[in-house]
Amino acid sequence: MRNYRNELYTHNLHLKELITKNGVKDIYDAVSQCTRCGYCLENCPTYLVGKKETLSPRGRNQIVRMLIEGKYTDVNTAKYTIDTCLLCGACTDVCYGKVQTEDIVLEARREEQGHNNSLIYKIIIYLKGEKKLFDICLKFLFFLHRIKLSYLADKLGLFYLLGYPSLSKGYKKLIKTPKKFLHTEIKHLTDETDIKWIYFATCGTDYLFTNVGRSSINVLKKIYGNGVFMNNECCGLISYNYGSLDDARKLATKNIELYEKIKAANPDAFIVGDCSSCIAFMKTYPQMFMDDENMYKRAVDFSSNVRDIIEVVKPEHIKNINFDYIKDKKVTIHHSCKAYNNQDLKTNEDDVLKPVLKENLIEMNESNLCCGGAGAYAFSEPEFSAAILSRKMTNISITQADITLVSATSCLMQIGYGSKTSYHTEVMHYIEFIDRIMV
Ligand code: SF4
Ligand code: SF4
Repeated sequence: MRNYRNELYTHNLHLKELITKNGVKDIYDAVSQCTRCGYCLENCPTYLVGKKETLSPRGRNQIVRMLIEGKYTDVNTAKYTIDTCLLCGACTDVCYGKVQTEDIVLEARREEQGHNNSLIYKIIIYLKGEKKLFDICLKFLFFLHRIKLSYLADKLGLFYLLGYPSLSKGYKKLIKTPKKFLHTEIKHLTDETDIKWIYFATCGTDYLFTNVGRSSINVLKKIYGNGVFMNNECCGLISYNYGSLDDARKLATKNIELYEKIKAANPDAFIVGDCSSCIAFMKTYPQMFMDDENMYKRAVDFSSNVRDIIEVVKPEHIKNINFDYIKDKKVTIHHSCKAYNNQDLKTNEDDVLKPVLKENLIEMNESNLCCGGAGAYAFSEPEFSAAILSRKMTNISITQADITLVSATSCLMQIGYGSKTSYHTEVMHYIEFIDRIMV
């Protein structure tokens, strides 16, 4: 295992090895697969809006490789290059060598001094371990937001004074704040028998877009019959991307244990969730357990039974349609990058909706280009996030769509904000639309 050798990159690498499409590789071997061909450049959202090599997948790979070799000393440029990556996976999707730039960038990010040290991250992780307290705190914050105290805090410059200037732009994206969280509504959904599905409530659905979770459960019941709520922990993606790998492993282990208990009586039931980002991550759990044979096997079993809600709805499931609802409505699909690029779910939504909507399903240019939401990216890199969103909204406006469908909660928040500030379109999770059209 190689170490970074300069003042910014000082620690040992974190993931033992990467599971790549070209086999298991250590980080240096993985990054060395980049031939610098540049084929990925025009697919990278940050390169498209910034037009600089340091904002491209090729630039990121070369800088990480040189950091590992100890040949790169411009720490500011390295940090800029690494921190501005959206981790959208669009580069890997088109790369002939399937170089996993997003995983490589993440490993480099974990080497940055200060990574995993943010006060906000520590508070979130602590509170996530105390579920009741977390619920109370979040309800209180949502209440403050509803009575416009976040607006007041912004006007008084408090976000700048507290050292979180990006919150000044970020809080405006908090358009929906439910009074009741999803897990409190569906906690009874645990004692069904002969179950076919296990609903995994992702944090975005559980705490913000609760209507998405309700629609998922409605549709799953209609198509598959009985199912249960997993009563799960957070999938661990926040820790994986922004904090500690150990925290992510702990959360993954708890989810694997919960699944194994349900599986004992229901061996054929699949785990299903409705945020493509969390689902894509749960499909990669094994990567975190490469040095623990037993946990690795359990993670492989867990991940192989995880499904994105967009992959369990098939064209043959849509039999009786609510034509009144879809009449004259133009619909377009933003293919959330974590479904399209990371899970290779490229045509699922179109295959289901094309026979129903026919010419009213309008194809969007660059439909799989990231919207700039990318989890906390909208808060950590607000300028890039805004520029990328603007490109997405232009592409949506060309379709003249009344409704724009997405499959990740981060996209719901980001494009939902875009629809309030530029081209107006109703932004909806795909499964909500399916719920409305299925009679
Ligand atoms: S990441 Fe892949 S497509 Fe991009 S420059 Fe490297 S080898 Fe070429
Ligand atoms: S993961 Fe996305 S933002 Fe990062 S280099 Fe690849 S295409 Fe660009």
